[in-house]
Amino acid sequence: MSAVDAAVINDRLAALRERIAMLGGDEVKIIGVTKTHGVDLVQAAMTAGITEIGENYAQETVAKLTGLDPRPTVHFIGQLQRNKVRKLVGLVDVWQTVDRIELGAEIAKRDPAARVMVQVDISGEDTKGGCLPADTGRLVDELRELGLDVIGLMGVALLADPTEARPGFCLLRSLVDELDLSECSMGMSGDLDIAVQEGSTMVRIGTGLFGPRER
Ligand SMILES: *Cc1c(COP(=O)(O)O)cnc(C)c1O
Repeated sequence: MSAVDAAVINDRLAALRERIAMLGGDEVKIIGVTKTHGVDLVQAAMTAGITEIGENYAQETVAKLTGLDPRPTVHFIGQLQRNKVRKLVGLVDVWQTVDRIELGAEIAKRDPAARVMVQVDISGEDTKGGCLPADTGRLVDELRELGLDVIGLMGVALLADPTEARPGFCLLRSLVDELDLSECSMGMSGDLDIAVQEGSTMVRIGTGLFGPRER
């Protein structure tokens, strides 16, 4: 059984949309992050009107989404090892965490012309993955040369204190503009307001929609 059902998710989604609209983010897409939850929750989320989900773990994504029909648009948002790409092809629609050319090359080989995003290290923490802000433009160019469809940038802010997220979000947005990209994936349950104020086009919301995770 899911912790929450479609009616609960629907209410939370409506409240979230309203909150984001009040911040001026009418166009912001809401990605429902379903990691650690079962396929029943993915289905409840779809019933509630969520069309795009985020998953973090390769093994779990395969186990959960293989054979699911219909299925939502799936964004892979976790750190990704090159050897996991192959088994995710056909299940992942947007690869959000491409932060090095070796990973991009593997995706281009297995899933030609795939939609990808470059993960940028905006926290300065070095534990969450992401390329250096200064290297972003070059990586975008190289990924395009491989035939990948680079739609934007993604970043994860420092989680400890949401008020410290702003400079990183501001940096990510300025890189998106500088590189003339369209998508800026930033903002999670704890820092989504700041992310929307700073120009996010995609927020990735787990606990705010589905409640606490079990692990
Ligand atoms: C888990 C996760 C989220 C969602 O986090 P919540 O705080 O539950 O909203 C968003 N983005 C990434 C990269 C994550 O790993």
